[in-house]
Amino acid sequence: MAEQRIRVGEIEIVSLTDTAGPFFTYSGAYPATPRETWEPFRAQHPECFAGEDGVFTRVGCFLVRAGDRTMLVDTGIGPGPVALFGHSRGQLMDELARWGTAPEDIQLVFLTHLHPDHVGWNLTEGKPSFPNARYIASQTDWEVFHSPEVKAAMEALVPSCIERDVTPLAELGVLDLIDGETDILPGVRAFPTPGHTTGHMSLHVVSGGQQALILGDVFHHPAQVQVNEICIAFDMDPQAAIQTRRRIVEWAAAEGMPLAGCHLLPHGLGRIARRDGTVAWEVL
Ligand SMILES: [Zn+2]
Repeated sequence: MAEQRIRVGEIEIVSLTDTAGPFFTYSGAYPATPRETWEPFRAQHPECFAGEDGVFTRVGCFLVRAGDRTMLVDTGIGPGPVALFGHSRGQLMDELARWGTAPEDIQLVFLTHLHPDHVGWNLTEGKPSFPNARYIASQTDWEVFHSPEVKAAMEALVPSCIERDVTPLAELGVLDLIDGETDILPGVRAFPTPGHTTGHMSLHVVSGGQQALILGDVFHHPAQVQVNEICIAFDMDPQAAIQTRRRIVEWAAAEGMPLAGCHLLPHGLGRIARRDGTVAWEVL
């Protein structure tokens, strides 16, 4: 039975699923990746394939409990329905309730990046959905996503996503922008993992001699662990994304530490194992 929760020393990481489904196609989402590249992965990761060309994917968030501190990492697609994600409606609030967490309990909302499927529950009717939380985002992403071209591109995917779910955080006075490596909580440090977006950040969790990484969208598909060159169409800087994946694979395989990825199945928690001279994603 797949675990939805891991413990890293004194820190708990809980996987939450906002939505999941066959929302994309391989040819559309990974246009630069030839069909044959995927073939070996059909048998290894059948859960990621829906028919001939369909990508089964998930949009997830993570709850981090460290002592008396409670942090949410990313906020999914939001209440929806969101056409880009099969007109689905996010389930994050129900997921939080299932783990005994009320919106008021969240003290920090850490945004790995500002794509519309990671900011959807930031606000409800213009007010913070997590009324006691500070929201943390990367300064770089904040600037990039407010440039006219990127803002227009994002809002073409999900109408008014920046204006409705991102920009008001500053006006409401709940936003802290960070730049470079930054301590977020005792035992939780943010660090840059650029490529998928220019300012994409991940979290290094260290407690009681154990460690883990919360990787946002460094990996969208387990095949990228083995073939780092596979880029999703939404990678803003493919070369930087490839470099980031190489660096993370090397580090995570050497340490054998648990990893958490927002779009990985069935719950985003796994590790990178060395096997037969190569590496592979192993679900925890
Ligand atoms: Zn994403």
